[in-house]
Amino acid sequence: MDTRVEELARCQNLDDSALLKLMGTDQYDAQLFAAADAVRRRVYGRDVYLRGLIEVSNICRNNCHYCGIRRGNRLVKRYRLNYEDILACCTTGYALNFRTVVLQGGEDLIHTDEWLCALIGEIKKRYLDCAITLSLGERPAASYQALFEAGADRYLLRHETADAGHYGRLHPEGMRLEERMRHLWELKAIGYQVGSGFMVGSPYQRPEHLLADLRFLQELQPAMIGIGPFISHRDTPFKHFANGALDLTLRLIAILRLLFPYALIPATTALSTIAPQGREMGLAAGANVVMPNLSPLAVRKLYTLYDNKICTGEEAAEGVRLLQRQIEAAGYRIAVHRGDAPLLPERQGEIYKITK
Ligand code: SAH
Repeated sequence: MDTRVEELARCQNLDDSALLKLMGTDQYDAQLFAAADAVRRRVYGRDVYLRGLIEVSNICRNNCHYCGIRRGNRLVKRYRLNYEDILACCTTGYALNFRTVVLQGGEDLIHTDEWLCALIGEIKKRYLDCAITLSLGERPAASYQALFEAGADRYLLRHETADAGHYGRLHPEGMRLEERMRHLWELKAIGYQVGSGFMVGSPYQRPEHLLADLRFLQELQPAMIGIGPFISHRDTPFKHFANGALDLTLRLIAILRLLFPYALIPATTALSTIAPQGREMGLAAGANVVMPNLSPLAVRKLYTLYDNKICTGEEAAEGVRLLQRQIEAAGYRIAVHRGDAPLLPERQGEIYKITK
């Protein structure tokens, strides 16, 4: 390894100007990616974790300007999966070696605590060695607590942008960054493995907003960090904005790996949507998680957060096996276990409630 790569690989304290320099040009990419890859290998070896994404509903009370399933989009055909649908997805996923299911959806009011707790309990009963991740937007603290007690292990709630002004431009009136951050701290205090993250290249985003994102994540120290390019959706107020760039997204994945050696970082669907080899590129840049779609084929086209979202046969059972082979051919190993966040060495004294 050349000395600059080694130096970078040891760097968890990059200052603002170093970060802006790494983000702003392709000049350092080769070193940056090599350093990120070295860090990922040091912590995780060749392991890549699978998460099965189940898109439980595209009904949403919210109206985020960037999102295709926002309430204001009258052109989406709405659906919600019932228990049988969701449990069938879990069965398929288990047979394909998934040991985490992610229940993601719009903020659908039918998803009461009672409804979700029963579902979570049933999944946990059937698949003892599986983790459940929720990605259902903002809920009251008491609800997060109830879902955790029912057996949910992780919660994904991206902060989307850590700049309050920018947050205001991406969201409708009434949604506030402060509130979003409060939810993330609440989730953490309850004991969830928390995931946060942001979109890259969202409308009005400036480099200093990305710096704020990284600094906020350093405060929060989430177990999981998901980022992906913004992709415009034709039936949203942001339809005329350009998509986020592949190169900047990859650089940010690599920077995240340097700053957060232990984080679970997915190569996201949005990344593979803007680049056919996006998943492999994300892994090479430092990601260590992939989240293939387990939703029933009939509804995948309806869960359109953005245009051209990949939802082809590639993601069906056969496709998942192919994807696993591709990942292995690229030099990684699919780990068949829950893939929890490892205990940070400096945190081993803390009570980190992974086991319940
Ligand atoms: N309702 C849940 C799940 C949302 S979808 C929630 O609000 O958390 C998950 C993520 O998709 C969002 O956090 C957002 O970052 C991303 N997303 C939504 N619309 C997008 C778009 N147009 N382009 C790229 N990513 C988008």
